[in-house]
Amino acid sequence: MRRRDPDTPLTYDEALRIARELAGDSGSLAAYPHRGLETARHGRGYAFTETIRSERGDLDGYVLVAENSHGSGILGVFGRTMETVIVEHLAKSEHDNREIPDTELGVPQRLALAAFDAGDSRVDVHGTDAATLDYAEYILTAMRRFPAVSGRNTLARNDHLLQPQDPARQYVHNCPLCTEPVMHNARYPHTVCDRCHTRTTDRAGRPIQGYNTSFSGGMATYYTDIPALPDGSAAPQEECVEVTRTGVCYIDGRPATIEEGRFGGIVVQLIATG
Ligand SMILES: [Zn+2]
Repeated sequence: MRRRDPDTPLTYDEALRIARELAGDSGSLAAYPHRGLETARHGRGYAFTETIRSERGDLDGYVLVAENSHGSGILGVFGRTMETVIVEHLAKSEHDNREIPDTELGVPQRLALAAFDAGDSRVDVHGTDAATLDYAEYILTAMRRFPAVSGRNTLARNDHLLQPQDPARQYVHNCPLCTEPVMHNARYPHTVCDRCHTRTTDRAGRPIQGYNTSFSGGMATYYTDIPALPDGSAAPQEECVEVTRTGVCYIDGRPATIEEGRFGGIVVQLIATG
């Protein structure tokens, strides 16, 4: 799907084009006029209904195309109506864009915001205990990783980042290559940071990238150095069979493992060498 320009207001015609791409049966799409949705301050958009033919008979479906998100689904399940879908969407959009007052921020959130606004990748350590620093760097990493309108907006969109810290949890570890903070997962303690992750290569030094092959699991790696075709269209994909098979890649010549994460995504961990 073509990405829309977020700086131009979404028009009905553009919403209809996107809805046709999302619909299960675009021929049955019908506009569902809704003034509240079409004039909303946050999450403005257009709703459509559709009829989806299935073995169990015709199902009522919907497509909602908004400036900030797209969605589609089946109506009638758990009492879902077009009205409840729109109300939920608008409530979430308001929540995601709410102003967060300073009084809602704890010390880790304030430290992370100050670092983010200064363009720093690390939190100021002065006068901060190690546990607070650990959580503050986790929040900062989330702000840098999922860019929103502002650091405060990342907090608004991710309620868990406003929670007090869990003293039993380790939130970040240092990237084993460059020491940038990395979100910590005890299952993958040697994960490299996003920047180092982009430098993965095969044994010969050709750049590669790993992809999940399906929702149910599996990973394959592909070369990323194949030039686009002369007409500008995307190059044909070439799998890096060696790394897909062995799960061993390299970063700056140092060996690392590459695998699918337990809950999705691709995990690259440096192999500790004496
Ligand atoms: Zn790194």
